[in-house]
Amino acid sequence: MFDRGRRSLLSRRRTPSIPRMPWVVDEETFVDQCTRCNKCQSACEENIIIKGDGGFPTVDFNRGECTFCGDCAEACPEPLFRPTTETAWDVKAQINQQCLAQHNVECRSCGDMCEVMAIRFQLQPGRVAQPQLESDVCNGCGACVATCPSSAITMVTS
Ligand code: SF4
Ligand code: SF4
Ligand code: SF4
Repeated sequence: MFDRGRRSLLSRRRTPSIPRMPWVVDEETFVDQCTRCNKCQSACEENIIIKGDGGFPTVDFNRGECTFCGDCAEACPEPLFRPTTETAWDVKAQINQQCLAQHNVECRSCGDMCEVMAIRFQLQPGRVAQPQLESDVCNGCGACVATCPSSAITMVTS
């Protein structure tokens, strides 16, 4: 049995800006009720679910993208996922200053990977084209993360 005090400590420690898994209920409920059985991890064909802090499952976009197949939610025996007919999550990509284009090095890798075309490149005089991320279009799949050669993309809950 997992100690409740430790659960609440982990719950407090974890910043809500770290995506857990799509359709997951609120973080506090998750940390309180997840038994860490790893059924979600085994069910993910993309193999992007890892054991995070305290052994709790969490997606790692450095391993690949979420296809929103819903298998993690279906595999979970606890009431920890919302219906997969609902919006998966409010996770968005963010590009930081490590982006090569911001240092005038030509790169469009993230845009090439983005199926929904949330990253467009804008030509600017005297500079290589700069990525512009449209948050409204981004669905938080994370496909752009692993492809970025300078680890300039993070996924955050908005
Ligand atoms: S929705 Fe599918 S691809 Fe995404 S984390 Fe769950 S099992 Fe993996
Ligand atoms: S893949 Fe990375 S370095 Fe390249 S344009 Fe996108 S954010 Fe910048
Ligand atoms: S997270 Fe997915 S949808 Fe959003 S910008 Fe990256 S590839 Fe596009």
